[in-house]
Amino acid sequence: MGPVSQSPKAEAAKTVGSAVNQKQPYKYSYNPDFVEPDWKRLPGYANVSQKDWEDAMWQRRNSVKDLAGLKAVFGSYLTDAVALDILRDQKDRATMSMLVPPQMINTMNEKDLANDPIRRYMVPMFSDRDPVWPSHPHSARDSLHEADMWVAEGLTHRYPTKVLAELLSTCPQYCGHCTRMDLVGQSVPQVTKRKFEAQQPERHAKILEYLKTTRSVRDIVVSGGDIANVPPQVLESFILQVLDIDNIRDIRLASKGMAGLPQHFLADKTMEAFDRMAKKAVQRGVNLALHTHINHAQSVTPLVAKAARKLLDMGFRDVRNQGVLMRNINNSAQALLDLCFRMQDHGNILPYYFYMCDMIPNSEHWRISVAEAQELQHDIMGYLPGFATPRIVCDVPFVGKRWVHQLHSYDKVKGISYWTKNYRTSIELDSADALSRLYEYYDPIDTLPPEGQDFWKREAVKAQHRAS
Ligand code: SF4
Repeated sequence: MGPVSQSPKAEAAKTVGSAVNQKQPYKYSYNPDFVEPDWKRLPGYANVSQKDWEDAMWQRRNSVKDLAGLKAVFGSYLTDAVALDILRDQKDRATMSMLVPPQMINTMNEKDLANDPIRRYMVPMFSDRDPVWPSHPHSARDSLHEADMWVAEGLTHRYPTKVLAELLSTCPQYCGHCTRMDLVGQSVPQVTKRKFEAQQPERHAKILEYLKTTRSVRDIVVSGGDIANVPPQVLESFILQVLDIDNIRDIRLASKGMAGLPQHFLADKTMEAFDRMAKKAVQRGVNLALHTHINHAQSVTPLVAKAARKLLDMGFRDVRNQGVLMRNINNSAQALLDLCFRMQDHGNILPYYFYMCDMIPNSEHWRISVAEAQELQHDIMGYLPGFATPRIVCDVPFVGKRWVHQLHSYDKVKGISYWTKNYRTSIELDSADALSRLYEYYDPIDTLPPEGQDFWKREAVKAQHRAS
């Protein structure tokens, strides 16, 4: 039998459908190709077997911790110029030490490391940073004041019904833009890290005690650091105790490791512990979800999708993504939609939030203005299903997450946006004006018009005089 010819009506509809797509600013086309990048293309992984690659312990043991390790993997792909640039950054600017699992290394484009988006935020170069204003004058180590709002060591109570528990201060990977750079990771030349004072079991017990005695809290984000570094039996014990507290109805486990080290979530011991947690959550009618942190489509690979699928099959309510919006990495509608479609079409991960990069030191080159964030939110609407269209949010110090269009007013010359809030954090219960005052957020200075940049130069001079 020859090919079945379509009716003229069907042919016409196909032509119109194709033209509709061709004329869109973003052209979606389902791409069935979804394969793990071949790690054997990289000199340092040329002899690594699939068994080793899929072994979480092998991944941890072989995570890259310094420039020599990076060179051993990339060989001549890592040019001297890029290597020296990274070295200078580690000495003069980096707020995080280097720690990159092979899984993440394998998602970089070895042929253009200088411009690769994953390299840009995992292994920053000095020349990536803003040469004039590497930090905003209002940047701060704990820019969201999470530690100020600790009600027990490592337990931040910022919103009325929700808390954030930092179970530990390490991760299987360290991101250059980490908002918890004050606490997370090893000390580096630029930053001596804060340390938890109490031992882990004592801290966890105090967190549980607060949850038991505070019935207005119904929702806990269990984070760190990264829960992928909590031994599965310790995490299980903590979560099973949380599940015994009847006022806790939502539990969100936070792990970038889901994308950076999916092998951890596919290890037998992890899966057994997670399965028991999921079963108890289902039995208790509690929403247990995992929130991950993926910033670029390159990071969504079949191993990541497999780990997410396992959690969903166990009974996790969802696996959601909270990415960070960063200049020259994902600040285009194309990059954001490519990532969201890859998660939605293949990754088993729901696009949820993109946070604007926080005002930590040396982050100006990653940050974008509120105006640009608003434009991006506008430009990504209408392509994804509504439930999978991420919200772009600004985490305003002393306020919390706000959708970027929620601002009260905006001085675009000085790059200062003003925000309001409708609840008190734990540190302003007696403040008379907490709900009536305006809270400020600052755009990166290099994005401002000349008169705005002049304003900040004058402010800097005044600050110098005050200090001398
Ligand atoms: S995984 Fe999260 S907590 Fe850890 S370094 Fe990255 S951003 Fe910070």
